[in-house]
Amino acid sequence: MVLALSRGFAAHASRPQGVIRFEQAFSGLKFIFGLWCEPARDDIAVNSRDNMMENYQLAVIGSGSGGAEAALLAAKNGFRVALIEKERLGGTRLHRGCYAVRALHASGRMFREFLGSGKFGIEADLLRNSLVDWMKSQRAASNRLADELKADLEKLGVKILSGTGSLAGQHIVRVTGEWGDNTDIEAEHIFISTGSRPDYRSTPGSRIINSDDLIQRIDPPSDLLVVGGGYVGCEFAAIYRQFGCQVTVAEQAERLLPSWDETVSKHVASQLTASGVELMLGAEIDVKNLPLEAGSPIVTRPDGSEMAPDLILVATGRSPNVESLGLEALGIAAKPFIEVDAQLRTAQRHIFAIGDVNGLNMLDSSATAQARVACEAITGGDSIFSSRWVPRYLDTDPPVAAVGWMEHEAEVADFNVEVQTESVKLVTSDNRTVVEPSLTQVKLIVEQQTRQLRGCVIIGQQASEVINVAALAIQSGLNARDISRLLLVHPSVSVAFQRCAAKFA
Ligand SMILES: Cc1cc2nc3c(=O)[nH]c(=O)nc-3n(C[C@H](O)[C@H](O)[C@H](O)COP(=O)(O)OP(=O)(O)OC[C@H]3O[C@@H](n4cnc5c(N)ncnc54)[C@H](O)[C@@H]3O)c2cc1C
Repeated sequence: MVLALSRGFAAHASRPQGVIRFEQAFSGLKFIFGLWCEPARDDIAVNSRDNMMENYQLAVIGSGSGGAEAALLAAKNGFRVALIEKERLGGTRLHRGCYAVRALHASGRMFREFLGSGKFGIEADLLRNSLVDWMKSQRAASNRLADELKADLEKLGVKILSGTGSLAGQHIVRVTGEWGDNTDIEAEHIFISTGSRPDYRSTPGSRIINSDDLIQRIDPPSDLLVVGGGYVGCEFAAIYRQFGCQVTVAEQAERLLPSWDETVSKHVASQLTASGVELMLGAEIDVKNLPLEAGSPIVTRPDGSEMAPDLILVATGRSPNVESLGLEALGIAAKPFIEVDAQLRTAQRHIFAIGDVNGLNMLDSSATAQARVACEAITGGDSIFSSRWVPRYLDTDPPVAAVGWMEHEAEVADFNVEVQTESVKLVTSDNRTVVEPSLTQVKLIVEQQTRQLRGCVIIGQQASEVINVAALAIQSGLNARDISRLLLVHPSVSVAFQRCAAKFA
């Protein structure tokens, strides 16, 4: 279908706003009732009386990390963009994931720092700590970030449509409002960026919950069992332990974070254990058959004692939000993640799936990288997405970051590599480290023949910054000698990275 974009734009400009086409008598009644009860909402787009559809060059369904980045990028490039969101702007990152977790961690760290402030010559007499206040601080931060995102989108002229988006035709996106009213828009390109949700769905009032539920709770558990030792489970375990809860992590594999380098698993396990978290590795817990009543024992420990947590967080994986998108009618496969090619195109070349919904690499950094690839594709570019070089980060204490090949992956792929490690207590750009130097551990993986850097793991303060230096080195094809000769700021954590590279010489 060829779209008459200029005609659509003229129609868009002259269209009277606020006129509703009722799809069904029932939804119309609901809408009229809604007008009595609800203040007018200018962010809901509506079809015009003459039934002419608004027309966009790009429609993006979902305003999380991938969708928001794509809408901003395309609008910056002069595209006329509609962004459809059924909840609050910002998606998982702002409200239930990365930034929400960071905000809680910030409260935990601040609390711990006050407890240890005597070393810096500061005495705090009375420290009050409440989960309600931690949550208030988190929500204030999430709301501020969502407001900033809205302002950025509006500044660039992105049309924000409130409602649930679905595909109603090759180039038609239907937006269903909360009162059941339907609005169709036409778009030359469509990005599906509807993200994912926890695999485990809790029943209201149950003591067995998922991470979305946990972040809504303001009453701290006294005894929390986390089922799943991936990064979500480990991060929440660290936060709730910092808060003072009794925490146990049960993981079915023999190590935490099975997809990360083994050094990281060992480090996170020892940090969590040192903070008082109990670990049960190789422990398979049948979540479907757990007793729902508080106080019922869940599992018998090797020493015969029984564990009866008052709250159980199930953090065992995520599923894509693909239901009701209308994929089947357009022949777009989802098994269960939407299938895409290297440019993130679905079976319909003008419809892309970016972010968690395609399951390629369920990270914030991947969702934004994919948004860039898809935006380039619709302007005729040929860049492709590879999850191999996406850096990743784990907000533990201290944090962990990694990029590229891990040692065990290189072994499995029969890739000839050399590995060096460095573990050093450093004074860094953080002035506090003069008083209390922090430990930084680095592992570098280089290709045997070329000595080019292929992978890096960093454990220590500012790991997320140093991993960016490593990612830059990998993407620029630097070898170990090049890295060891870079001019770097002293003191800084990157020095540990450089010292490790020098070991290959
Ligand atoms: C606890 C936790 C911690 C995390 N920490 C990190 C981290 O430290 N680093 C990192 O890189 N990643 C982290 N992640 C992962 C990261 O948050 C996700 O990979 C990222 O948010 C995915 O972005 P997305 O755009 O694909 O989806 P989302 O951010 O989930 O956005 C999807 C949006 O689409 C909307 N939507 C869904 N269906 C429809 C529809 N039909 N119509 C309209 N709107 C719809 C949703 O309401 C949502 O707003 C974490 C995740 C969790 C759960």
